[in-house]
Parts: sequence; structure tokens; C-alpha cells
Amino acid sequence: MSRKFIVGGNWKCNPASMKEANTLLKEWKKSLPSVDKSKVDVVICPPALWMTTLSPAIEALGMQTCAQNVGKNDAGAFTGEWTAANLLDLNIKWTLIGHSERRTKYGETDADVAEKVAKCQEIGVNVILCIGETLEEREGGKTDEVNKRQLAAVIPKVKDWSKIVLAYEPVWAIGTGKVATPEQAEETQAAIRAYIKGAVSSDVADKLQIQYGGSVSPDNCAELITKPNIDGFLVGGASLKPTFMEIVSKVG
Ligand code: PEP
Repeated sequence: MSRKFIVGGNWKCNPASMKEANTLLKEWKKSLPSVDKSKVDVVICPPALWMTTLSPAIEALGMQTCAQNVGKNDAGAFTGEWTAANLLDLNIKWTLIGHSERRTKYGETDADVAEKVAKCQEIGVNVILCIGETLEEREGGKTDEVNKRQLAAVIPKVKDWSKIVLAYEPVWAIGTGKVATPEQAEETQAAIRAYIKGAVSSDVADKLQIQYGGSVSPDNCAELITKPNIDGFLVGGASLKPTFMEIVSKVG
């Protein structure tokens, strides 16, 4: 089964100004001819406040804008939140859910993640669902158990799997410079796909795109992408550089 590759750039709370963000997008434009868009989709996750302002420049590069988070609520008294419907209203068709920084720094539980996914399914927003284990969990041999637990919370909420992409992001590899080896990433992602096959269906498992995320760079992406269960990347730090486009073109 051949799946289209998908690369995400998660800017987190960066860069320091919108001027720098615009400069970065202009730099990327120079590399566009090296990208085969029939082979790779690209979604960019800027800070929420900038999403709508930057969206036209992102789309002009043939990329899509993706939120880094979304509320689990409908409109109402939820100070500081935004809804899945707010995103679609602004033509933002994607959001990350369950990034490890949301889980660890903002206390998001599996149940919160599941409610957010349910809301996006109801409204029709595409989700990049982030899962992954901590170093302690990996060293304790619990990697597959943790991924299954995080997925099991969400699976009952998903009616339309064509609107879900998974990002396997081992927490110990995020922002640390310690990338998983291609073998580690492949072994874990194969286990994730096998779990989806059993818990959902073979058809969904075959079609589901699974990104790897965690210290991906232009230097390490070429080998990772040769693995059959790696369908692209979710990139943090390296997506803030002009050389992000080297990752995109090596994938596509
Ligand atoms: C991320 O934030 O999702 C991520 C993978 O970060 P980094 O590439 O910096 O490890």
C-alpha cells in the first residue's frame, strides 16, 4: 500500500516575531522547485495568533496551515480557548492534538485528547494526533503499551479515519537532538500500525499515515524515510530554518 508522505512543521512559540516568520517563508520559496508536491503534503503550525495572517503566504507555497492545539469545547465561557469550529471558520483545516508538550506542560490527559479528537471529527477538522513514550517508559519496556493506551482512548471517537494522521513522537527525542534510530522508529511504528489493524481494521491501518517526530533534521531524514512504516515527519526545531525545505524535498 503506498501512502502519500506528509511533513509537518511545528513552530511551537517561535520565531520571536512575525517579521522573522515572514522572512523564513520567503527563504523557503527559493527551494520550492526541489519539492514534488504530488509525493508530499506539507502542513505548517505557526503560533495561533499568527495563523490567519500567515496563512496566505503558507498557502502560496502550496502548504496548509495547521493549529498547534484546539479546545475540546464548543463556543462558550472558556477563556483562552478556541474551538474546532473557529478553525474551520477561518479556513484552517488542520490541528495537532496531544503534542507531548500539551500533555506534560499543560496536563492534558488521554481523555482530554479524546474529547478534542471527537470535536474535530464532528466539525470536520483534520487532526495530527501525537503519541509517544517518555524515556523512563521506553527504558521500562513500556513503549508499545503507552502508545496503545494513548490510541485506545481516541479510537472510539473516530468515525472518519481519512481525517486522522498519527505522529509517533518519543518524548525523549523531542527537542533533545537524540533522534530515534530508523530501526527503533520503524519497529514502534510497525507495532502502532499492527495495533490499529486489530483495533480498527486492515483497511484503516493500511491507509493511515504515521509520521515520525523527534529531532528530525536534513542530516537524518533520508534514512528514516526509507522505512516502510514512516510516512513523513513532524518537525519542530528544524522547521524554523531555511533548510527545513531540504527535509521536505528529501521526503518528496
Ligand atoms: C515537535 O515539537 O513535535 C518536535 C518533533 O520537535 P523537534 O523536531 O525539535 O524534536
